[in-house]
Formats: sequence, C-alpha cells, structure tokens
Amino acid sequence: MSVPKRKQLSKAIRLEVLNKYDNHCAYCGCELTYEQLNVDHKIPLYYAEFGYDINYLESMDNYMPSCRSCNKYKTTYTIETFRKMIEKQPDILNRDSSTYRLATKFGVVTPTPHKVKFYFEKVEENLK
Ligand SMILES: [Zn+2]
Repeated sequence: MSVPKRKQLSKAIRLEVLNKYDNHCAYCGCELTYEQLNVDHKIPLYYAEFGYDINYLESMDNYMPSCRSCNKYKTTYTIETFRKMIEKQPDILNRDSSTYRLATKFGVVTPTPHKVKFYFEKVEENLK
C-alpha cells in the first residue's frame, strides 16, 4: 500500500487548526500567523500503512498547528521520536559542530539537557 496523498485543507479547516492552541505552534509554542501555519499530523500520515484509520489521521484530533522549523524537523517522526531527537540535540551539535564545541568550551553556550515538554502538553496540563 502506498502512502496516502495528503488531503488538501480548506481555509476554514486551517483556521481551526491555527486556533487549536490559540495561534501557537503545538510543539515549541511560538506564535503563528495564518501565513506561517504548517499543518502537522500528530500521528504521521504513513501510519495508514500500518492499519491506522485514515479518517482519524486526517481529522482535527490529529492535525497540529506547527511552525516551519518544528514541522520540518518532525517530518515523519512520532511525538516520542521527535522528543528524543530534540533531547539529543546537544550531543548532535557536540559531534557535528566545531563552533558549538568551541562555544561550550569557553562557556558562552551552556547545554542544559532536560526532558522536553511540548507546548500542547503544557496547555493540556493546565486545563486539568
Ligand atoms: Zn514550533
């Protein structure tokens, strides 16, 4: 089975996605305008191949407002893989960037490893 084609979303649906977290990216929490909105699938669309209901995958419950950088980095990751990838950033930077290594050596950049909590999780916690 091939990956289902991404559904074309109407402006009304896109506005509803944008309003889901009050014009904020569901992941990093930055403010978003309609023009900046990327509609992410919380559970990646290709999960349809593993028997996930396409109607759920293409529903408001699964649509997440996202900024360009979060959407680009999350790509087809699940929430938990996306979280792990962000948490590993200091190690990745340390491995790949001599600029980062130098900046940490001189203490002008200090890595602060911690568990990543997404904006939508903080919002949901505050609603409880
Ligand atoms: Zn973001």
